[in-house]
Amino acid sequence: MDTVTLLYILFVFSVGLTFGSFVTLASYRLPLGEDIAIKPSRCPKCETKLKFLDLWPVLSWACNKGKCRHCKAPVSARYPLTELVTAAMFVALYLYYGLTLQSTLLAMLWVALMIMIVVDLEHYIIPDQLHYVLLPLGLGYHATIHTPSEDVLHGFLLASGIGLSLHYGYRYLRHKEGLGFGDVKFFAVAGVWLGLKPIVPFLFFSGIFGIVTGLLWRILKKGPVFPFGPALAVALFLCVTCPLLTNLFWNIGQFIK
Ligand SMILES: [Zn+2]
Repeated sequence: MDTVTLLYILFVFSVGLTFGSFVTLASYRLPLGEDIAIKPSRCPKCETKLKFLDLWPVLSWACNKGKCRHCKAPVSARYPLTELVTAAMFVALYLYYGLTLQSTLLAMLWVALMIMIVVDLEHYIIPDQLHYVLLPLGLGYHATIHTPSEDVLHGFLLASGIGLSLHYGYRYLRHKEGLGFGDVKFFAVAGVWLGLKPIVPFLFFSGIFGIVTGLLWRILKKGPVFPFGPALAVALFLCVTCPLLTNLFWNIGQFIK
């Protein structure tokens, strides 16, 4: 690997860490209904306004040994972990797609999905604001890669129909909520991102990841209801970024023969 590529990776990693910080900030403030752009960051325990030295992704946490610099309250390892996961995905996207508009839009998709994962794991909701961001991002993505508009429309209609059927069907049969309405709205937006063909693989992988989350929830004794958002988010990202995987899904019969 040459020095220029290495410098680019370092640059993309740093940008990823910064966006990772934004993920932690947005996932903390969105469920509280707080503004995510204007209000300065504060320690949630002692309310001290965070200064230059507190705002370095991962480094501030490591240097302060996972504690607030002012009141010594513990700061969860989930924050630097979120920053690192976001940065690692930025680098993976750069290595696969280069520094392009397509990779930038996919990185923004990942940021929105990371916020969705963190919020749903903690609060069991998918904030509406994420749908308002994901929808135009998805349309922009398809304009960039020249997807036929009818494919995007068909994806949207089919995914919305499936989401609504699951929501009302489960309620009708079991007299309780199975798929929340936040999940239904996410289905619609996911349909825009996916187009028509990857929708069935998306449902398949969502189901598999959902079962894994449900089992983990049971093992960790976190209650009978588990968040389905993380499974949906990971399945969507996989199906959007790995057309190979969705093709494999549709051609699996040939491999078995
Ligand atoms: Zn503090």
